[in-house]
Amino acid sequence: MGLHVVVIGAGIVGAATAVELLRDGHRVTLVEPGAPGGEQAASFGNGAWLSPASVVPMSMPGLWKKVPGYLLDPLGPLTIRWAALPHLAPWLLRFLSAGATEAKVEATARALSALLADAPERHQALAAEAGLSDLIVRRGLLYAYPGRAAFEAEALAWRLRSDNGVAWRELDGPALRAFEPALDPRYGFGVLVEAGAHCQDPGAYVAGLVAYAKRLGLHHVPAGATGFDIQDGRLKAVRTFQGEVACDRAVIAAGIRSRPLAAAAGDRVSLASERGYHVVLADPEVSPRTPVMPSDGKMANTPTRAGLRASGQVELAAVDAEPNWKRADVLLDHLLNTYPGLPRQVPEARLTRWMGHRPSTPDGLPVIGPAAASADIVHAFGHGHVGLACGPITGRLVADIIADGPPARPLMPYRADRFR
Ligand SMILES: Cc1cc2nc3c(=O)[nH]c(=O)nc-3n(C[C@H](O)[C@H](O)[C@H](O)COP(=O)(O)OP(=O)(O)OC[C@H]3O[C@@H](n4cnc5c(N)ncnc54)[C@H](O)[C@@H]3O)c2cc1C
Repeated sequence: MGLHVVVIGAGIVGAATAVELLRDGHRVTLVEPGAPGGEQAASFGNGAWLSPASVVPMSMPGLWKKVPGYLLDPLGPLTIRWAALPHLAPWLLRFLSAGATEAKVEATARALSALLADAPERHQALAAEAGLSDLIVRRGLLYAYPGRAAFEAEALAWRLRSDNGVAWRELDGPALRAFEPALDPRYGFGVLVEAGAHCQDPGAYVAGLVAYAKRLGLHHVPAGATGFDIQDGRLKAVRTFQGEVACDRAVIAAGIRSRPLAAAAGDRVSLASERGYHVVLADPEVSPRTPVMPSDGKMANTPTRAGLRASGQVELAAVDAEPNWKRADVLLDHLLNTYPGLPRQVPEARLTRWMGHRPSTPDGLPVIGPAAASADIVHAFGHGHVGLACGPITGRLVADIIADGPPARPLMPYRADRFR
């Protein structure tokens, strides 16, 4: 028998979850104050990588030694804003602890791999079902290094990938130039993950999934959720700024804004914004065929429908702090230096900049599973750097939980009570 399920939030996680629930025969109401897949969502502006190789957590052994440098360099690839430090300290300590040993990062990589290994196939299937196949491109993903030594310096990261079944092809200088002629010749070594894919327009993809869900019967309430009416452990309604929506089940998929909702559902979770930026260069004179991650830039260069997108940077700061647009300019400068066929100066009219919030837990794993105050409420947030890729499997897991059936993956690593 179909239930009435309220999905809170229409980023990739909420959109994919809504489709899975509708396919399972439930009645679904989406509570989302913004445009689905709009600029307010991390799902709009990300690097668009759908990568089985993204199993390497941010926190790795030895990272703690670099923290003083991060505090002193406001434009480095990872920055911590001083003003946010007291508030962020508990998250930061957990973050450093999560990467303290090889054993810990091996466990994290395994848990990420369970969500990422078939991400390209899941996106292809979901996009095909929704009539959006042209948005998902499977042409591989390329890591570019100055030389083999720089690749070997990341031996632990590549061992984690190899341990989790990620295969790659190594390209020496001439092979790299033949594969990606637009790249600057300072890159002398490439690693191609052929199984990887990318999305040509993540915002349009999410909007398209919600439009498809509407054709399946989805109802959209354009309001923000504020909490829940729970009586004797059973969910009665989701509270919104525009009144209550009576329902049987609810899914918290509000990205970085999920923490207060999780608290209202009985779970204190550790969630911080790893803010990131992008710059898009419209009508680029040259563009890589395949998305590229230049190792010296710690960013993704992705060909999208709007132009060549450079995205990245990690800025630990309060959610509502003003963006530091100089960080987008760091991305732009690096982009122009990575492809010599691009001009040194670009007219402002060809550029767009964006800042968004990776919803990040300190251990790099999402929160997926029933809530403490009522098992009628399901958490589906905290996907940090890999939320676009993990959207479809998360939607499937949520639908499995609501169906009370065996989950497509063991849920243990993602449970909410691990922060207690
Ligand atoms: C610079 C950058 C690069 C990235 N690159 C990649 C990448 O290449 N590959 C990858 O897989 N991931 C990447 N990510 C991460 C990825 O974008 C996120 O993990 C993912 O988009 C999170 O999706 P979400 O649906 O959980 O949240 P969001 O996309 O943020 O959506 C949450 C939605 O909830 C809504 N909402 C908020 N509060 C409420 C409320 N109270 N009631 C109702 N609705 C609410 C918001 O309006 C929003 O629409 C990147 C992120 C950034 C910032």
